Amino acid sequence: MEEVGTGLLDRLDAMQRVAASAPGGPLLIVAGPGTGKTRTLTHRIAYLCAELNVFPEQCLAITFTRRAAEELRHRLDGLLGPVAEDVTVGTFHSLGLTILRENAEAAGLPADFRIADDADRAAARAEAGEDPDSYPTLLRKRDLVDLDELLTLPVALLKADRKLVQRYRERWRWIFVDEYQDVDAVQYELLRLLSPADGNLCAIGDPDQAIYSFRGADVGYFLRFSQDFTDARLVRLNRNYRSSAPILAAAVQAIAPSSLVRGRRLDPARLDPEAPLVGRYPAASVSDEADFVVRSIDELVGGLSHRSLDSGRIDGRSTSLSFSDIAVLYRTDSQAAPIVDALARANIPVQKRSHDRLRDRPGVAAIARELRHAGGLGGGLPARVRLAGQVLAERFAAPTLDGSGAVRPEEIWSAVDLLTPLARRCGDDLGLFLSQLATGAEVDALDPRAEAVTLLTLHAAKGLEFPVVFLVGAEDGLLPLRWPGSDPDADAVAEERRLFFVGLTRAQDRLYVSHAARRMRHGSERECRPSPFLDVIDPGLFERFGEAEPRRPKDRQLRLI
Ligand code: ATP
Ligand code: MG
Repeated sequence: MEEVGTGLLDRLDAMQRVAASAPGGPLLIVAGPGTGKTRTLTHRIAYLCAELNVFPEQCLAITFTRRAAEELRHRLDGLLGPVAEDVTVGTFHSLGLTILRENAEAAGLPADFRIADDADRAAARAEAGEDPDSYPTLLRKRDLVDLDELLTLPVALLKADRKLVQRYRERWRWIFVDEYQDVDAVQYELLRLLSPADGNLCAIGDPDQAIYSFRGADVGYFLRFSQDFTDARLVRLNRNYRSSAPILAAAVQAIAPSSLVRGRRLDPARLDPEAPLVGRYPAASVSDEADFVVRSIDELVGGLSHRSLDSGRIDGRSTSLSFSDIAVLYRTDSQAAPIVDALARANIPVQKRSHDRLRDRPGVAAIARELRHAGGLGGGLPARVRLAGQVLAERFAAPTLDGSGAVRPEEIWSAVDLLTPLARRCGDDLGLFLSQLATGAEVDALDPRAEAVTLLTLHAAKGLEFPVVFLVGAEDGLLPLRWPGSDPDADAVAEERRLFFVGLTRAQDRLYVSHAARRMRHGSERECRPSPFLDVIDPGLFERFGEAEPRRPKDRQLRLI
């Protein structure tokens, strides 16, 4: 645990310090990418606990993704030590689940209600037939709750019971919401119920990174924070600590036509005069683009030598870059396949956030069943998962089995590995663990330390940062995304531009933007123009890698970080 007190705020710049040490009451932190929002948020919680006698258990920190929540928890542990465990950190859905579990009876649910999985939903839909109204009823008859209801049911409960509202307001006196620009109507309603208008609500975000309106998010809630919450204090952070000056300049120019932040300023804290320009590669085709990515990664991580190394980390060479420093970002999931193939052919390890859910793995399903039935197993949850794995591995390894319903022991053990972090997060709460599985905990909560190149959609990259970023498919039709027969309206284009901005600002040291001249889209190969979003960026910020010069020119040889 670090020394808390003034020393704590020494690691922040002047404006971050103002935000972190602001007195109670509504607080809005408007800050661009890379300005240290998470850093400020965690330091504020630590400061409040250390200096203002706030109890960690009075703090509720909400983020949008599990990975962001884990990151927050990790940083809080570092700042606060063991008491950080008492801070409630989670996503909106996990918050809703907590409230619902604590009030299951009032919500008309049995204590052991489950969250509907795909099979449950399909069964209820089939039974409901054409009548969508009866679908929730059918779920309820089976003691199931739909994912959306994790928010709507708690809101309904709270609206109907002022005493309950009061209880939660007393419990969580300090509420922090990251990425507030992506709040939707129900999430907003929940926040308003949990926080009085003059409450200690700290909202953090960047309207220019609002990218979820297609899912109902409304940046309007961010923009009218000061009207909703009495005497809200506003702090702006303008210094970007993440990106090199050329990357930041390109990003700022890219967002300018759609910026929702009046007088937006984003000053580079990093002023290395030798920082490389933004690489731009006009590829002839999708496979040419994939080859460019492979070639560049090969050069960055040290040529071919990684192939003989297990870890992929090159020691003793002039580079300190490793595969985990590199991300490839794209607009649609379908763009991943050619990149994955090309990287695989070059023996470059890859991790891709998959939409596979943990529970869809045979080993996981078997362990979940075992845990459900063997309720009496002792020990903490991670130990119980391991024990269940052992029991199953032995059972399935036995040669007497006929093989039906059997799962290979390797699958069981890999499931144990996949489930252990989740088990740890759930403490000893088996019900929570099983419902987290049901809510679709993903297979690979992307391990930031894994020695592999990370592949992500632009949406999934929100909040993350990487020393090297490849933004592929920067083409009209993909950025902005266009479906056949429909043109995106101005609002949709603006959101696409913000998404492009989110992508560019993930990069710390090197950014490469590429576009292919031809691509299969909607079933046929089409000619593609570069994204119009590139047109507003000063060409002087780019270094073009032409088809004729597949290698980086010598004079701009990568300055290795
Ligand atoms: P985004 O909008 O993309 O989510 P953010 O505002 O949340 O960005 P962070 O991820 O918290 O930004 O910080 C960006 C990077 O800058 C991190 O690597 C962080 O450690 C670093 N950083 C932030 N503040 C400082 C500071 N005062 N001194 C040095 N480094 C800093
Ligand atoms: Mg952030």
